[in-house]
Amino acid sequence: MLSDDLVHGRNLSREEALALVNCELGPLLRAAARRRDAAHGSIVSYSRKVFIPLTKLCRDVCHYCTFAHPPRKNERAYLSLDEVLAIARAGQAAGCKEALFTLGDQPELRYRSAADELLRLGHRTTLSYLAEAARVVHEQTGLLPHLNPGHLAPADVAALRGASVSQGLMLESASERLCQPGAPHYGSPDKHPRARLASIQAAGEQRVPLTSGILIGIGETRDERIDALLALRELNDRYGHIQEVIIQNFRPKAGTRMAHSPAPSLEDHLWTIAIARLLFAPSMNIQAPPNLNPGALSRLIDAGINDWGGVSPVTPDHVNPEAPWPALDALAHATNAAGKQLVERLAIYPAFARRAEKWVDPALRTSLLRCIDADGWPRTDAWSPGARACLPDCAAGLGRPAIGDELSAILARAQAGVALGEADIVRLFRCRGDEFAAVCAAADELRQASNGEAVSYVVTRNINYTNICYFKCGFCAFSKGKMSENLRGRPYELSLAEVARRAREAWERGASEVCMQGGIHPRYSGATYIEICQAVKGAAPGIHVHAFSPLEVHQGAATLGLPLEPFLRALQAAGGGNPRR
Ligand code: SF4
Repeated sequence: MLSDDLVHGRNLSREEALALVNCELGPLLRAAARRRDAAHGSIVSYSRKVFIPLTKLCRDVCHYCTFAHPPRKNERAYLSLDEVLAIARAGQAAGCKEALFTLGDQPELRYRSAADELLRLGHRTTLSYLAEAARVVHEQTGLLPHLNPGHLAPADVAALRGASVSQGLMLESASERLCQPGAPHYGSPDKHPRARLASIQAAGEQRVPLTSGILIGIGETRDERIDALLALRELNDRYGHIQEVIIQNFRPKAGTRMAHSPAPSLEDHLWTIAIARLLFAPSMNIQAPPNLNPGALSRLIDAGINDWGGVSPVTPDHVNPEAPWPALDALAHATNAAGKQLVERLAIYPAFARRAEKWVDPALRTSLLRCIDADGWPRTDAWSPGARACLPDCAAGLGRPAIGDELSAILARAQAGVALGEADIVRLFRCRGDEFAAVCAAADELRQASNGEAVSYVVTRNINYTNICYFKCGFCAFSKGKMSENLRGRPYELSLAEVARRAREAWERGASEVCMQGGIHPRYSGATYIEICQAVKGAAPGIHVHAFSPLEVHQGAATLGLPLEPFLRALQAAGGGNPRR
């Protein structure tokens, strides 16, 4: 049953999953772990968050919940915006990047006092106050809001998409049986599976990156868990919007109607995680909360998770106040001990952040793009190429830490001069933390072996002969065309005489090279580039000409009706050295 093709791709069918309800745990966990490794490598991620409980009033009455409480005398139902900001700023100061808003479900529909307080706050609904609070936090702290307000109608999803980078709604369970009298969700309309699946579908229709998942141990059967996961899979297959699936274990809490109900066993939790890993595509992010399983972190990794969810260095888990978050360095240590490395992510996962134009509202897109790297992971420092700031302290130069066999093999091949294939190169670009340090160390060793301690440089002069260009590259602030009149500087074009003068001046000042590139001028042809080379070589015969972008070479050859090679030969004959890469 747990065949190899499960590791890299094929998802378990419903029948196959049901056949595993009473299977042996070991083989199941091993298959799930291999599937996770194939897609996520050595990375186990988490989000550094601050928890903002906007209101703890709720119209539902889940039998396991200690978060919600009725209105209390002399106590406001909602945090004020100042209180919300104070919490967010504490998180910002602690390096958090996620502002998690978790709150009760539309209490104004149950409590008059909640409705009255909302009006005093300038709102008719909790959800509209939530949207304002999230916007204020984002605008004033830069934290990215992740909203967990419970069941939502399509219009609510749309309204909150403009104030958040992702939303969360646990399916909890697909079992309508749990809504029957005496069951945990009886009297909680927002916990009915149909209501939750409708909200999850609305999030898909509106391209909202969504966190969902199931709560295990509240009376559902393993078959019902499989059906809940399949309901999520079906919606994700349709919309692709579920960014992570949480497998959360129920914990009995004092003061609730389920205070004396048994918690699910660790084995039961591990089974469910592994089944989820095998039901969803390997790339799916499967999460288990570390604070609800403090002594079993490595077992959870063995079962196939690749994420710990949001962990807060400043605020408690208000939903599970009895279970403190692990300290981040302790979590990193436990993750390393399981052969993985802890990597910070944002409230929106990398795969979705990389496609912000599809998944993120324009109101948040720019600030999101400013805080991610090319792979969609959060920038953990302010440095960027071209910045005058010093290189941040990072793992580079600290020797070669222990890494997995797969990566060691790739590095050994590279150091042996074997040309790496695309998959290997992509794998190297995905390295973080210790793996990043190992790649740097291997590159440094190769540099030393091939160049010794010498580091060379060339004395050169950049000559950009025109900034007039008829191309419209979105990232370019150099070119002057119809679309960029507002950008820096005036359109200009150097004469051949001026190009020659600058080359001669560079030579006289000790330069051995000129580096030349310009905009793609609508009047230029291949002949222009040849004349530029001749002008330089005429003025400074000994100087090396390092010139022309692939676009210029392409345009030059095309305007002369020449194939590339003869045009390149013509440039070389005119004095051009190897064209710029
Ligand atoms: S679990 Fe959520 S929906 Fe249920 S009572 Fe608590 S806050 Fe309300």
